[in-house]
Amino acid sequence: LLAERRCEAMVVITSGVGSRVLDAARRTAAESGLRIAGVLGKPFTMDEVKAFLSRHSGPVARPRVPVRDQAEPTEEELRSGLDHGELVLAFQPKVRCEDGALAGFEALVRWDHGGTIIYPDRFIPLAERTGLIDQLTEVVLRDAVRWLATHFAEAHVAMSVNISARSLSAHELGDRIFDECRANGLDPARLILEVTESSAMHDPHRSLELLTRLRVRGFHLSIDDFGTGFSSMVQLVRLPFSEVKVDKSFVMELARSQESRAVVRSIVDLAASLGLRSTAEGVEDAEALAYLREVGCTLAQGYYIARPMFSEAALAWAREWKGLA
Ligand code: C2E
Ligand code: CA
Ligand code: CA
Repeated sequence: LLAERRCEAMVVITSGVGSRVLDAARRTAAESGLRIAGVLGKPFTMDEVKAFLSRHSGPVARPRVPVRDQAEPTEEELRSGLDHGELVLAFQPKVRCEDGALAGFEALVRWDHGGTIIYPDRFIPLAERTGLIDQLTEVVLRDAVRWLATHFAEAHVAMSVNISARSLSAHELGDRIFDECRANGLDPARLILEVTESSAMHDPHRSLELLTRLRVRGFHLSIDDFGTGFSSMVQLVRLPFSEVKVDKSFVMELARSQESRAVVRSIVDLAASLGLRSTAEGVEDAEALAYLREVGCTLAQGYYIARPMFSEAALAWAREWKGLA
């Protein structure tokens, strides 16, 4: 909240939770652009506070990451962008870990705003707040379905699309996507709808109903950003998912972190024992890929394989791609 409100004040983080946790909190706060004076573990004495304050009373360097350096787009701008076809898709390949064979693409939306490319983190929250997300989801689904149907006849090449929690609860969503698939002669089973762990668990009862409806239609469901939420395993296994996407925060750290390796291995094992495929996103180096193969992860997605690319570049990539050695 402080970061969102562009808080300029210096912040001291204090708690009795222990230094590892305090350190994590400090990093998070600094990464969101807050000015962190330091951490103060509890319990502390008045003398310690005095010493701390006198150490930190001078000017503190500005944070490395500016909170917001560009003006936020407004609702009007986004609405106009949607109406004028300024939302375009980038496609990022997903390949099989074992041999690198192409398994599909994830559609990632970009806003081409007068030649400036704006990334989704800057406007998806706005779209969700203002209700424009339903229109956005529709545009993305339509374009993604058409692109796949036009360029990839192979049944094993799938298309993953991100669905916001808000759009998920729109009852007509299933019908709309189904119609779009039919109009393009695309088997619904080639479409994977990605829902984040946190959004699926917000109202597990209702999610179960909505997700089951979609699954019955034939779409596949993927649980995105897995490992970042606080879901109960019991709840998760009740939901009709076909894929688990291991969050990139763990995958990016595979080469360096023992903890991340343990987390990734157990998520991949959990998925396998439930009969689900696992996709690791954020594969940035050969070490990560090697580890994923070792633990039997199904698919890999990340800069090491390819970045998200606009249509032409993605098609050229697919023509050239020879798999992994
Ligand atoms: P996400 O679904 O977790 O998408 C993966 C993000 O990780 C993408 O960022 C992608 O570019 C990035 N990524 C892929 N490989 C790597 C890698 O090797 N290293 C690193 N560091 N990053 C990698 P992007 O495109 O900026 O999307 C951000 C988020 O915006 C997405 O996260 C998704 O939650 C949301 N989003 C994107 N498109 C849509 C959409 O059409 N609808 C909705 N509702 N949300 C969308
Ligand atoms: Ca995703
Ligand atoms: Ca993700």
